[in-house]
Amino acid sequence: MLGTQTVSDEGHLMIGGVDTVDLAREFGTPLYIYDRASMRSKIKEFQSAFARYKDLDWQIAYASKAFSTIAMIQLANEYGLSLDVVSGGELYTALKAGFPAEKIHFHGNNKSDAELKLALESGVGLIIVDNFYELERLEAFCTISGKQMAVLLRVTPGVEAHTHEFIMTGHDDTKFGFNLDNGMADRAVHQTLQSPHLDLRGVHCHIGSQIFETEGFNQAVRLVLNAAATWKRDENFELQVLNVGGGFGIRYTREDHPLPVHRYIDQIVSTVREVCAAGSLHLPSIWIEPGRSIVGEAGTSLYTLGSTKNIPGIRDYISVDGGMADNIRPALYQAKYEALCANRAGDPAGHPVTIAGKCCETGDVLIQEALLPESCGSGDLLAVFSTGAYGYSMASHYNRLPNPAVVFVENGSAELVVRRETYEDLIRNDLPLKALSGRS
Ligand SMILES: *Cc1c(COP(=O)(O)O)cnc(C)c1O
Repeated sequence: MLGTQTVSDEGHLMIGGVDTVDLAREFGTPLYIYDRASMRSKIKEFQSAFARYKDLDWQIAYASKAFSTIAMIQLANEYGLSLDVVSGGELYTALKAGFPAEKIHFHGNNKSDAELKLALESGVGLIIVDNFYELERLEAFCTISGKQMAVLLRVTPGVEAHTHEFIMTGHDDTKFGFNLDNGMADRAVHQTLQSPHLDLRGVHCHIGSQIFETEGFNQAVRLVLNAAATWKRDENFELQVLNVGGGFGIRYTREDHPLPVHRYIDQIVSTVREVCAAGSLHLPSIWIEPGRSIVGEAGTSLYTLGSTKNIPGIRDYISVDGGMADNIRPALYQAKYEALCANRAGDPAGHPVTIAGKCCETGDVLIQEALLPESCGSGDLLAVFSTGAYGYSMASHYNRLPNPAVVFVENGSAELVVRRETYEDLIRNDLPLKALSGRS
């Protein structure tokens, strides 16, 4: 059980004080349920981790790609967060949510002309420049429009962190950013400083996702600040901003033991202080960009169980009314999840089953081995936990499955924040042939 999850006397899973059986009845399944209190408390954890450092300037940007909807962006705004967007569509969503443009940061390794223009016209606060091609185009657009733009340069420090390990890759083979170790980042700094329109505030790096240790951040900060010391010497440029990205790990299964948020922040802050002191650098503003860690554990996917297939001596399959279309992560990354029979949450769970999706792919399996009660079967409800990040945001229409609805729950009430798609929505942009070919 995570966040505000409990089990009612009837044995129903409750989230935010709301009975999931009632949610299924009212909104249908599959359904994405977000525990609003859990998101609030994650945001506050990050904020209080920084607030303890009175002399420090800091900023937290919610990485909206993890879950971008108007309601979520409003929630981020309510807490005074900044916002990362990586596309025109995410930017449009944020603007429609009334998010202050000056607190939006625009990321991405291949921003289109239309996206750069939209960013400039809408007054986004900052653009994270990824490559020389973008640097030149941004400069050109600013020249035409007579605008100034604050920028960070995305650098690739040669550190990659995933879960329990981090790797020093030396030379980094990635599509993102200016490499630190081969002079690309130095040239980018030099070039940006020459620009009459671009205001270079600092640098950004993002070393990975689902990170459970602090050493990767530690190494990345050291490498970036060592480079910053040479920029101070050679270019007379001092970082105002050091953005260390996101990637803070969450609990998907009982095998995951994420660190408390303040452990990451404490490590980052102490390394920044130490290296700045040693290199006589001003303490920059420290920015982070959590996505998954704010919304991941808050989300639960609710499905109805359907057909079963028992292969004697091999395994028992049971299928849900969704699958890879609403959660691609198991198929894409072999991601692991845990599940519970939501209307029999009090029953002992001892029956190993494979939870399959309904899409036409053998690989559409949500959970290889889940333990469900013997009593649980077709027609019952299945809750899959920690699906709040990169579930809805990566949803597809494969097999023309309409995207599920999204509800926020809190203090015993539920609020629909994304309507379930209809079949009509699916064909909304389809156009019939103007003339049929005939059968000649
Ligand atoms: C994806 C991404 C994030 C968020 O990562 P999480 O693992 O969701 O915290 C932050 N910054 C950048 C640049 C990203 O690409």
